[in-house]
Amino acid sequence: MVVVLDHNIKESEKENLIVFLEQKGFRIKEIRGEEETILGAVGLIPMDLREVEILPGVARVIPITKPYKLASREFKKEDTCVPVGTIKIGGPRIVIIAGPCAVESKQQILEVAHLVKESGAAVLRGGAYKPRTSPYSFQGLGEEGLKYLKEAGEASGLPTISEIVSTEHTDMFSDYIDILQIGARNMQNFELLKKVGSLGKPVMLKRGPAATIQDLLMSAEYLLAHGTDYVILCERGIRTFETYTRNTLDISAIPVVKKLSHLPIFVDPSHGTGIREKVLPMGLAAIAAGADGLIVEVHTDPDSALSDGPQSLYPEQFEKLMRDIEALAPVLGKEVAKPPEHLPSTGPLISTAPIRTGERLQVGFQGEKAAFSENALFRYFPEETDSVPLPEFRDVFNSVLEGRTHCGIIPLENTLTGSIHQNYDLLLQYPDLKIIGEKTIRIIHNLIALPSAEIKDIKRVYSHPQALSQCTGFLDRFPNWEKIPFYDTAGAVGFILKKGNRANAAIASEEAGKFYKMKILKEGIETNSRNYTRFVIIAREEYFKVREPNKASLVFSTLNKPGSLYEVLKVLAEKSINMKKLESRPIPGKPWEEMFYVDVDIPKKFSIFSAAIDVLKKETEDLRILGMYKA
Ligand code: PEP
Ligand code: MN
Repeated sequence: MVVVLDHNIKESEKENLIVFLEQKGFRIKEIRGEEETILGAVGLIPMDLREVEILPGVARVIPITKPYKLASREFKKEDTCVPVGTIKIGGPRIVIIAGPCAVESKQQILEVAHLVKESGAAVLRGGAYKPRTSPYSFQGLGEEGLKYLKEAGEASGLPTISEIVSTEHTDMFSDYIDILQIGARNMQNFELLKKVGSLGKPVMLKRGPAATIQDLLMSAEYLLAHGTDYVILCERGIRTFETYTRNTLDISAIPVVKKLSHLPIFVDPSHGTGIREKVLPMGLAAIAAGADGLIVEVHTDPDSALSDGPQSLYPEQFEKLMRDIEALAPVLGKEVAKPPEHLPSTGPLISTAPIRTGERLQVGFQGEKAAFSENALFRYFPEETDSVPLPEFRDVFNSVLEGRTHCGIIPLENTLTGSIHQNYDLLLQYPDLKIIGEKTIRIIHNLIALPSAEIKDIKRVYSHPQALSQCTGFLDRFPNWEKIPFYDTAGAVGFILKKGNRANAAIASEEAGKFYKMKILKEGIETNSRNYTRFVIIAREEYFKVREPNKASLVFSTLNKPGSLYEVLKVLAEKSINMKKLESRPIPGKPWEEMFYVDVDIPKKFSIFSAAIDVLKKETEDLRILGMYKA
């Protein structure tokens, strides 16, 4: 059964509850979700759930009807995300694992590693212990192979996966490898499952050639019951009467597993088909069907590969596969995961003062020094923060994702000109980044020129298009001035300074004028003085935890049926959750379909919010929390 805990449960109440359930014979596993904490009570013990329901600190009790418990959706509603090095597997991302069937030499694996990384793979595969049908075939390099794989992983910045075939090898694999693979032939080697599960590391469990989906989930249960929380399932083809392909790749297993289990499901189109030219179409089909990723065999010289050459992709075929997956991802509302280049040296940081003593916080913003974004940045962060100017909004996201900056700041909406859709779209494309804070600042525009210039000298005005459009009332008075869009307000001031022409002016902040030692010809030229821009702070969610958030930003699309938006609003109204914003946007890649952006206040009693989210998940499609933060 699943025991959902009250948000206000006392530590002593929780302990009593655990003792009570353990005395009944249950094994207890605690899961702290984003919205609620649950206890999974696993065991085949008949009992009246009401006995648990009445205990203090219990919000509700849900029975698990499936024979697999920890692996079931009944046990855990949210998708499991498996952290592997610097990336995550599962959720709104697609992870591509690639590499040779077997590690053949140090040089071979190093070459393939760089090549697949270059094309966009996020994890490196390579077998060192190969379970072969014939004892005379190449059996793998053993420990030497694992060493080479680790070296290649480190050299390319990719985490690694390799197949473990014996319980005697667990220590060795723990030393070298990030994800342990249980091969199809060992799916029901229960002693191996128990031992590997007990390591607590991520495990990829491949479906046996004659295993049902239920068999697969029962084997996953072995792994989960023995310690690990991180199992990745993998469909790799099953035996059927068909002989054209090596196996029959069961694509329908993907939506079936997605419904039954919270675990990520991968597809191996290489072993699934056994034929190189079938790997690309089946790989794309798997991603389209909802797979969380692929594991693909790639070789620099497949024709002389020591194992599985005929199904190994040539480098250029893999590159094409990655390009096609990149094109498919937005249609599915997903992002292809890439490992960050560097990680912040500060490591995990908690709270809104996310910095260790003696270390400066790096925050990226779009534009030049003294841009409005930088003003907002310094109003949110302490003075001893390093602001990092970046050319494009996407660069701000990338720098945070890749760990070159700890956080980023981006504008989301302006009271006069509305939402900055590009940034909303980027928030969706970077699911690993979350909003952790917000800052709204008043935008006061100024006409700025060279110190020697007067208003009568001006012929041209440079600024960001947003700024130009916010000052139309003033600019309309000078119909002869040429209005020239520039990528950044502060950058425009720097530009006219460099040009040194008294006929040029720029529209920017007072700070930008001061920064470049220019003259402010006219202050406050914005058409409407109620000109505010709301900025949000983005960060990798694992490094920043916001204590007691009071605002949340959500995005979802409604189910395609009458009254579906009304149903959503009804949920919020019934729970008395204050809505701050509601806006619709076309879904990129899905013509005529809309998604909705909603900002809400998080009630003091957090459980009201999480209960509302539970209902909303049923009433919407693809609900995502862009962030929970302090307004
Ligand atoms: C492999 O991935 O190297 C492999 C042998 O796959 P499977 O266990 O699915 O046959
Ligand atoms: Mn192989």
